[in-house]
Amino acid sequence: MTMSTTSVRALQRELVTELPGPRSRSMLERRGATVARGVGCAVPTFIEAAGAGLLHDVDGNTLIDLGSGLGVTSVGNPAPEVVTAVREQVASLTHTCFLATPYEGYVAVCEELARLTPGDHPKRSVLLSTGAEAVENAVKVARAATGRTAIVALDHAYHGRTNLALALTAKNAPYKQHFGPFVPDIHHIPASYPYRDPKGMTGKEAVSRAVETLERQVGAENVAAVVVEPLQGEGGIVVPAPGFLTELADWCRRNGALFVADEIQSGFCRTGAWFASDHEGITPDLVITAKALAGGLPLAGVTGRAEFMDAVQPGGFGGTFGGNPVACAAALAAIRSMREQDLRAKARQIGTTLTTRLTAIAAAHPEVGEVRGRGAMIGAEIVHPDTGRPDAHGADRLARACQAEGVVLLTVGTYGNVLRFLPSLVMPETLLNDALDVLEESCDRLLG
Ligand SMILES: *Cc1c(COP(=O)(O)O)cnc(C)c1O
Repeated sequence: MTMSTTSVRALQRELVTELPGPRSRSMLERRGATVARGVGCAVPTFIEAAGAGLLHDVDGNTLIDLGSGLGVTSVGNPAPEVVTAVREQVASLTHTCFLATPYEGYVAVCEELARLTPGDHPKRSVLLSTGAEAVENAVKVARAATGRTAIVALDHAYHGRTNLALALTAKNAPYKQHFGPFVPDIHHIPASYPYRDPKGMTGKEAVSRAVETLERQVGAENVAAVVVEPLQGEGGIVVPAPGFLTELADWCRRNGALFVADEIQSGFCRTGAWFASDHEGITPDLVITAKALAGGLPLAGVTGRAEFMDAVQPGGFGGTFGGNPVACAAALAAIRSMREQDLRAKARQIGTTLTTRLTAIAAAHPEVGEVRGRGAMIGAEIVHPDTGRPDAHGADRLARACQAEGVVLLTVGTYGNVLRFLPSLVMPETLLNDALDVLEESCDRLLG
């Protein structure tokens, strides 16, 4: 293994080579010769270590990380509590397969999920390894519990990359292109996207529009579940209009369909609450979790009303690695750390800094069409100011300019034109402000 020459790592952004540096470039060559080209690469810099909000690359450069590995490393990278828990667990028990012989960690994670997810009704959980796998299992629950088959998702939705999850995902290229056919009886209805909806459209009106499509194209009596991201992530950090989720959840209740919240990206303190559903006061029948749940290790869950979850027959759930003991130990430590450090409050604080500064940038540059989100899940939509049309090229130029200065800023959205801010919830304020300084200078240089 190639080791960096730097033994003392910087606590702030610091570039000692151009990006990517020579070691990264040689690893990129090896990558190109052996890794499938379908595996994307947003920032071509190889990372060998990390810290609170920082990434250290193989050439001795230190970057500020505004992506948290897609919203995973909320508690730190690595978080010391997670490191200790993982070390102890991996040294005593690495794997049994919970279906073969159980262990306490799995049960303890399910207890935490029951405690933290919205609602105090009796709950049950199943643990899986990835978000997409959890989405698949939520669909199993909905179909078994209702005896119906139709699953409804929103426009702009992202639910993962397995075949069923792709069927639920609303964006074709690059996710779905060439991979069909997808599982049948999956339907999309209009979402609430206030910036692009008719001006002044309320949440209630957006639900009427969605339900009209749903009842006409699918039939209310056929719907097993409506699956929503309470704050859409990959679609462009879209917060639905007030009342949209409440009304949609009510429609589900009245019509015997499960209301399923995909909180994979928005869960575990990211939005300033345990779950984005909490902001709206909604109680989903099923909550899907993954990403930040286990502090950087792969773990996912489906948590829901006991009567629905237990509609699945014994043996109907499973998987070799689901709820792996090391991942469970990491999750318990990560959740403890979220509580002890009050990361919900930290997320809100980060959100205030981000929105204040981005709003000021938007005031100076009409290309920044909207700044939106909750807590530490913020998006800035880049547009052609005259028409309001999405400007993916402009967003990409800004992201690249920041990346060249050592700020890992990624773009997202159905139209690829949203700058996405998902910093670690333990990122120091000084790093966040430094990253925003870089963005502000890039905007001044590249925008009108
Ligand atoms: C990331 C994500 C998924 C997929 O999770 P994987 O672990 O990548 O399979 C599903 N839904 C949402 C909302 C996500 O952000």
